[in-house]
Amino acid sequence: MGKVAAGVAALAACAVAGVVVGRRVRSRRKWKRVVGVLKELEEACETPVGRLRQVVDAMAVEMHAGLASEGGSKLKMLLTFVDHLPTGSEIGTYYALDFGGTNFRVLRVQLGGRRSSILSQDVEQRPIPQHLMTSTSEDLFDFIASTLKQFVEKEENGSEPSSVRARELGLTFSFPVRQLSIHSGILIKWTKGFAIEDMVGKEVVGLLEAALVRSGLDMRAAVLVNDAVGTLALGHYDDADTVAAVIIGTGTNACYLERADAIIKCQGHLITSGCMAVNMEWGNFWSSHLPRTSYDIDLDLESPNPNDQGFEKMISGIYLGDIVRRVILRMSQESDIFGPVSSRLSIPFILQAPLLAAMHEDDSPELKEVDKILKETLEISEVSLKVRKLVVRICDVVTRRAARLAAAGIGGILKKIGRDGSGGGVAGGRSRSDPEMRRTVVAIEGGLYTSYMMFREYLHEALNEILGEDVAQHVILKVTEDGSGIGGALLAAANSSSSVDNVGKW
Ligand code: ADP
Ligand code: MG
Repeated sequence: MGKVAAGVAALAACAVAGVVVGRRVRSRRKWKRVVGVLKELEEACETPVGRLRQVVDAMAVEMHAGLASEGGSKLKMLLTFVDHLPTGSEIGTYYALDFGGTNFRVLRVQLGGRRSSILSQDVEQRPIPQHLMTSTSEDLFDFIASTLKQFVEKEENGSEPSSVRARELGLTFSFPVRQLSIHSGILIKWTKGFAIEDMVGKEVVGLLEAALVRSGLDMRAAVLVNDAVGTLALGHYDDADTVAAVIIGTGTNACYLERADAIIKCQGHLITSGCMAVNMEWGNFWSSHLPRTSYDIDLDLESPNPNDQGFEKMISGIYLGDIVRRVILRMSQESDIFGPVSSRLSIPFILQAPLLAAMHEDDSPELKEVDKILKETLEISEVSLKVRKLVVRICDVVTRRAARLAAAGIGGILKKIGRDGSGGGVAGGRSRSDPEMRRTVVAIEGGLYTSYMMFREYLHEALNEILGEDVAQHVILKVTEDGSGIGGALLAAANSSSSVDNVGKW
């Protein structure tokens, strides 16, 4: 009997060991599958400097094509009619409306007449109510006008009105607009989740001024610009070596100063200074050299604007978290390392850029922040440290690609204007070894760049790789806080009906 019992016990032990080994083998297989998904992602997102330089070249080529003719490229290269920038000599009180994507800002800026002498500035920020994003143009502009009116009344409470003339404002409206003049333009299309159909094809300033009249506010819009042009204006006001501006926030875009004779499609328009700021609308840039994944393709197909804004969909804040969400969803479907598939993983845009940044930059040994966000936002709990590390790795791959592509975009602008050290371009660039290479400043604004340190570091690293140390030391990326709004006010001043003397040339 003793022998039989021992035999049974041995058999049972073997069975248990078998189960344990079986479980381990299965778990190893699942982990291998997940690692396979990660490897595939890493490979598809690779951005070695050789590939980035191809993107740089493609950007410069598309810029040429977009300047040559309307519709010549996916890059619209829109005329802004901004042919003189504020110089620092502007005087007076000006207002600005900064209507970007996530937030809406109202500003009042007092200018003292000496460079960098913004005497005071007041800003009020409000989130744009969700329902207005898909409402009517009248509802939207009535909201904007009433917010502006309250702000003006609060600011001027008790004090003398700024002058006898009507108040003037700069409207910073950061959507693709075909400018008719410096103070008028037609909305081409909505981006960043807006869809107010009756407004597409309409003149934007007319809609604002009609709402101002309805609200009883005596104010005229001296300029219509976008955030990139506003940022360029403040950048140039602070530092005359500023040649371009880049926005990396909810969306992404860039503008730069172009020689009038290089803007072939502009011939016939009068440009007084020989230069004009060109609004690239670079979010719509596309090139076969861009490293695209199946997640990008799905994100695009499921977006309200498929085949549009391809560059923006790989770079900007509104999309980055959603790429990461899609990768985690796929891993979760292929194995149970995240537990049962959470229904939260199927909600578009649930993982926003600040959460992505918080997970990526979590430096606690146990990755507590990752754990918290997985639990609270995605309802994924009890995952091992190994899995949390995997999530950080996904964030890193997606953010690194985005930042490096943005750097390549900047490289493309520098190449086009001959400030990349290659000796080409249209602005008399110099060779890499030339110690006299001109100081070149690019103004940058947007929450993704300013608030996400890893993004910023990856962008700088890539730009250094693209340009090489010798050239990169002459290129300065400068944050211009609130540039989009303040720049709008500065441009209103520079183009004010009462400031004909304020014409600064560059
Ligand atoms: P807008 O582009 O609407 O004018 P901002 O320039 O302020 O607004 O950028 C806001 C965007 O920046 C957010 O939608 C988000 O994508 C990104 N962002 C803001 N804060 C952070 C953060 N801490 N980490 C990462 N991204 C952020
Ligand atoms: Mg903005």
